[in-house]
Amino acid sequence: MSETLTPMMQQYYQLRRDLPPDTFLFFRMGDFYEMFNEDAVEVSAVLNISLTKRGGMPMCGVPYHSVRSYVKRVLNAGKRVALCEQVGEVKPGKLVRREITRILSPGTLEDVGLEERKNNFTMAIFPLSVSGKKKVADDSIHSNSNQETTTTIRPIDRIVAFGISYADLSTGEFFVTEVATQEALFDEIMRVAPAEILAPHVLKVLVEGIKEELPQLEFLEDYLFDLTLATELLCSHFKVQSLDGFGGEELKAGVSAAGALLHYITRHLRRDASHLRSFRPYRHQGYMLIDATTQSHLELVTSRAGRSMTLLAALDCTKTPMGARMLRDWILRPLCDIAAIQARQEAIAALLDQALLLSELREKLSGIRDMERSLSRLSQNSGNARDLAVLSISLLRIPELKQIIAKIIDSKKELIPESETTSFLIASLAEELHDLQELHQTLERALVEEPPAITKEGGMIREGFDATLDELRAASTEGKEWIANLQEREITRTGIKSLKVRFNAVFGYFIEITKSNLANVPSDYTRKQTTANGERFITPELKEIEGKILGAEERSKAVESELFQQLRAKALQELSAIQKTASAAGTLDILCSLAETARLYGYCRPLVDDSSLLFFAEGRHPVLDQQAREKTFVPNDTDLDASSHRMAIITGPNMAGKSTYLKQVALLTIMAQMGSYLPATKAHLGITDRLFTRVGASDDLSRGQSTFMVEMNETAKILHHATARSLVLLDEIGRGTATFDGLSLAWSIAEYLHDVSQSRTMFATHYHELPDLARTRPGVINLNVAVSERHDDIVFLHKIVAGAADRSYGIQVARLAGLPGSVIERAKEILTNLEKSELNAEGRPLLATHVDMQRPRSSKRRIVDEGPSLFDGW
Ligand code: ADP
Repeated sequence: MSETLTPMMQQYYQLRRDLPPDTFLFFRMGDFYEMFNEDAVEVSAVLNISLTKRGGMPMCGVPYHSVRSYVKRVLNAGKRVALCEQVGEVKPGKLVRREITRILSPGTLEDVGLEERKNNFTMAIFPLSVSGKKKVADDSIHSNSNQETTTTIRPIDRIVAFGISYADLSTGEFFVTEVATQEALFDEIMRVAPAEILAPHVLKVLVEGIKEELPQLEFLEDYLFDLTLATELLCSHFKVQSLDGFGGEELKAGVSAAGALLHYITRHLRRDASHLRSFRPYRHQGYMLIDATTQSHLELVTSRAGRSMTLLAALDCTKTPMGARMLRDWILRPLCDIAAIQARQEAIAALLDQALLLSELREKLSGIRDMERSLSRLSQNSGNARDLAVLSISLLRIPELKQIIAKIIDSKKELIPESETTSFLIASLAEELHDLQELHQTLERALVEEPPAITKEGGMIREGFDATLDELRAASTEGKEWIANLQEREITRTGIKSLKVRFNAVFGYFIEITKSNLANVPSDYTRKQTTANGERFITPELKEIEGKILGAEERSKAVESELFQQLRAKALQELSAIQKTASAAGTLDILCSLAETARLYGYCRPLVDDSSLLFFAEGRHPVLDQQAREKTFVPNDTDLDASSHRMAIITGPNMAGKSTYLKQVALLTIMAQMGSYLPATKAHLGITDRLFTRVGASDDLSRGQSTFMVEMNETAKILHHATARSLVLLDEIGRGTATFDGLSLAWSIAEYLHDVSQSRTMFATHYHELPDLARTRPGVINLNVAVSERHDDIVFLHKIVAGAADRSYGIQVARLAGLPGSVIERAKEILTNLEKSELNAEGRPLLATHVDMQRPRSSKRRIVDEGPSLFDGW
């Protein structure tokens, strides 16, 4: 077959051969990228462009100048694109040399349509398993059959941990961690929200249906996750002897994942990853765990109602893209380390003490651009002079930031001279901010105000920066002036008033003479072309000067390109210092953002310690509070203590504010452990290790589960994992089934949480029988949301008060919703009948009574048997 292929198609197939799966080759031919065969069929369908045939072979193409938008659409479809460029000289009749310059994948875009305020992560996951009786997988070339626990690949029975590693190629961040369960893996995936996930093939065997759960999953050869191979690759990449220095030595599964990820980026995608200078291992013990369900219920960083309804939006006054991206991470990973929380609080306090300096800092921060992404582009050879300008402009602000920080620290010392460690975090950030003024000055001297995006066409470097460049430019300007004056001179010489000197890309400079004047053309003119209106001429002198101009221009472009490379290399010498500076500026930006939010909305500093308390005086929901400025949000107190009154049962009508209150408590807890100030007048919290919420009846139809099943799944997870350090917020448990089933479940779940888990728990419920739990459980307190009744109408006061709601007011709410009067009246009658049956013969509440074991009866029968019929009086 290959004999019949043209040399170009042979070249095509050679380049096509080594690409990762699901990658389309965009093959540059002149002004187009062409796709052939199956690639063409698929790409034309994805992009909705026409498919043609040449010699029976399907092909399609996209113009090079708009390739970005096409690439983006292909990546959105979950595929990759290999961009193949013409790199050799184009000569007629000769095959031009072509190379794949970049492979773009959804997780490794760095300039095509990235959201500035969000990271774009690629993640690798690795299941670490304990060997079972099954055979070792054939493709695991590095297995070690003598060990019980192995990091090599075997299709075996039990996973003991998942290694997770993720990197953002656009910023240079690289993380490694491990989780114990599949549930925790999914939570981490939800938190990180990677654009692409990679896993060994063996995962398909170990976790059935994983691909359906994680549509962005791609499989890599199992051996790439081999621990030895991964360690070697990472060590050689980081140029270290061992990974011990990174502090993640026990995260073996994580290292396997990190190695495979690095292999994928550097070998499969052929990217330069030199700006991934180190990886950051972390363990989950240091952070409050927020599972995927809770993250979405609480609308922490995304919300169906729009970004403005998220906690992120309420806290985000950041000025830099680094700060914005990092704030998201702070929200999703609140701290458990009290000292670290206090360090952040200290910094915010210091900023709040100096409102003027805070505003100055924020103003300076707003001058800092996306240094991280520019630096990443430059280090991967895809950056341009604009990226250098971003560094230059941003670095200009650094000494100013340092100066303001010094003032803040000084004034703090004056106030409390003995406190050496005051605002320690700020002081250490100031140290991380590298001055780098020499680099800034060079870049500023070198670059024009607004450099172009292309590096090969010149126009980047300022006058006076490089003598050779200046000379070349002068030669070109001189030539151009000579030509500009030529028209005048020739008009005088020839007497042809309409004579014009023109330029086009095909002929270069020429003299144009109209038909009526052709008789007066001097003998030294050489005719080049006849047009409708006249003829075009050149002269030897004109061509000589033109040659000089074009030669000088070509050379100056080459010189500029060379200078750009030198400047780029100079900037990259400082890669690590710039990365640290960018990260410190991002952290400072978040602290300023939290301080500014605290200042604007009057937040207080919470006391966070290892007590078992959860106390907020006049707490407010941070999102609704900001939005309800004119209407005012009603503040509410919270007072729980895991060692005594640990469970609050909250009753009250629909729309009273129960869910809002629960979410408020959760959000305030998260904010406190982020180190933020809180919308409350006073707050005292003991560290929460995990936050669980079960809010509302969120259906999961996409996964084919019924509402009730989802509800019970989520509840099961809570009961299995909640500890005395956890905070559990339950909203309407048991609503997805019949009343008595639901009530019984709600009751026994509450008992379990109170007796066994002993977590701090808030339980909002419609079952107004549930408050009776307080009669048998000492740690249960009852709260309700106050309403005021006027005649038969109710007004929601949104105030949480002690005691259980005496009624659920469902009928009144139904009236507000406009149900017909006769339906409302009949409902009231039935309710009266039902309520009579709620106490047993001794006047004790039915549900608080233990069932007589001699005569077991279901609570349903008991109530229905002993009470009046629902249909009495119908
Ligand atoms: P429930 O869960 O009791 O049905 P929600 O929490 O959904 O009630 O709240 C119902 C409405 O009351 C929401 O529109 C909410 O904005 C408003 N609301 C709740 N709590 C407050 C409050 N403390 N101050 C002002 N408005 C509130």
